[in-house]
Amino acid sequence: MPHNLLHFSLIAALLFCLGFAKTQAFEPFPEGQDKLFHFNLQKNFYKDDAAHKADVEKARAIITEIEKHKGKVGSSAKELNELFTLISDYTDVFYRLYAFGEFREAINTKDRGPIEKFIEVSAEGQSKTAFVKVELKGLTEEKLSAFLKEDPSLKRFEYAIRDTTRMSPHLLSQEKEELLAKLRPARFEWQEAIFQLAFDRTQFGKVETGGKSYDAGTNYEALIRNPDRKVRKAGYDEYVKGLRAVSDVAGFSLVRLMRSSNEEAQMRGFGTSFDESLFNEYLTRGAVENVFSQLRATSGVYNDYQRYKMDVAKLRDKITDPNLYDIELPPTGVEEPKFTAMEAVDTVKKALAPLGPKYGAELSALLDPANGRLDIVGGPFRRQGAFCEAGFGFFQDNFQGFLGDVSTLAHESGHAIHHRLVLLNRGGEMFSQGPPYLTESFSMFNEYLLKDYLLKTLKDEKQKRAILLDQLNEQMYLWELGRRAEFEMAAYDGVAKGEITNAEGFNKVCSEVGKKYDIFFGTNRDLECWWIRKHHYWSVPTYYKNYVVAQILAMKYFELYKKDPEGFSKKYIAMVECGLDRDSLSLLKDFLGIDLNDPNLLGDTLKMVRENFELEKTGKKK
Ligand SMILES: [Zn+2]
Repeated sequence: MPHNLLHFSLIAALLFCLGFAKTQAFEPFPEGQDKLFHFNLQKNFYKDDAAHKADVEKARAIITEIEKHKGKVGSSAKELNELFTLISDYTDVFYRLYAFGEFREAINTKDRGPIEKFIEVSAEGQSKTAFVKVELKGLTEEKLSAFLKEDPSLKRFEYAIRDTTRMSPHLLSQEKEELLAKLRPARFEWQEAIFQLAFDRTQFGKVETGGKSYDAGTNYEALIRNPDRKVRKAGYDEYVKGLRAVSDVAGFSLVRLMRSSNEEAQMRGFGTSFDESLFNEYLTRGAVENVFSQLRATSGVYNDYQRYKMDVAKLRDKITDPNLYDIELPPTGVEEPKFTAMEAVDTVKKALAPLGPKYGAELSALLDPANGRLDIVGGPFRRQGAFCEAGFGFFQDNFQGFLGDVSTLAHESGHAIHHRLVLLNRGGEMFSQGPPYLTESFSMFNEYLLKDYLLKTLKDEKQKRAILLDQLNEQMYLWELGRRAEFEMAAYDGVAKGEITNAEGFNKVCSEVGKKYDIFFGTNRDLECWWIRKHHYWSVPTYYKNYVVAQILAMKYFELYKKDPEGFSKKYIAMVECGLDRDSLSLLKDFLGIDLNDPNLLGDTLKMVRENFELEKTGKKK
């Protein structure tokens, strides 16, 4: 999932750029330990080029076998079982080739050979196996039920089969599908590009501070954290001016993107493209509206937090009229703990110990640098950010020992171990594929466990407050996520109804939705153009809601965990390792009793947020 949350390490790096970070010598890899934390791709993937090539050929051979099912898909239980066994085998090789290509490229962005090879093979696979989806349209519910009775071992693939056939009513004729696929680039590939181009061409104003000049477009987050209020205000003003200048092209491209995708969704029998995405992710309109309405109804706690931060600003700067740009300064009286890579690995292992011995064993193997499954030391020609590929391991751009870095370590480990547990339990990579909010929630829960462990074990009061504040910010962020996700849903509706035709239309919706979540939106007209800040609407349309659902789920897990650590962990791990054998909403309900349609979904979770908030307020007074 694209990580949009502004990392603490990123903020720290930004602050450092602006020249007021604490200059403390800290070595994240003491005593030459940087040599340990690199991938060993030879050990974990292919011993030489020939072995890689052989795997590519293996993928092709499986595709050829799959092709032999053409014209016969769903003809018998035996046939279906054989076909899906082949698809499962193919998925395993597919992931291995993909992970290898990704890792090679991530540690040396010029080394694109293996990833190009992967792209080539996967495109071949996609076009040669497209018939499976089309032919499965003929598999009726009655037939499938009969097959499952006849051959109980087919049950293993039941969810995968149903996952395909549930789309059948929304598929168009072969001819139309081909035409739409062909026209896809012309319809969708320009909006994000033109949005980016508009940004690149727009001159954002410059702000002078510390003898240097900063572009308000690229340094906005750092500028509004500057101790000098004049700098903050100038940064904010210039940023808003820049957004206004971009807004016409941003609105033009977004209207076209939403219109085109709505049109296709309507052909497929959905109200809007947003509705189609809900269906694809096993969500329902009712469930997300339930989430949004509960967030709106409880925005009071978030608004109190905003007011509290304004009070802090009043006292700090001796001002009476704090604004949006006054409330993001790094807090005083806190001290972020730092961790060497070895300490981080050790901390994450201890923090996740409550998840039980099976999880612990897999985690130890993953995080043991001797196994070469992580690559976290910075350097030239490396990709940015962090990502995990199946259960193989993960890449992290540049571990510096910040809390955010350790959090990332816990997060990416969550993805890897999820895959490992499912693979061990069900024998194939295809069984861990699920909607993004579900897989992300597993990783985000690990971050909660990490902070919980640190709060329990750190001795230094200032460090504890840093953790508490980080936790609180993360929780309060939920209402920001909700506001942005609801904006996107409302925008798709507005475009479908013809109510939104340009930037002004989006401004109006952004204000209307914003007011329901955030105190600043009611009084500050500038914020109507805040929708332009999220590139996701252009780059990964309809994805944003996943952040909201994932965050709520992670908070729910944590709430349930706190009530009964052992009991919860058992049920939770049982859910994680079963992979997707039913739809995700049923999975959550069956194992943990979490129901996204529950009108009291956020009830006890909010109590936890309020308690954290109270702790922060009393800590501040100390
Ligand atoms: Zn993630």
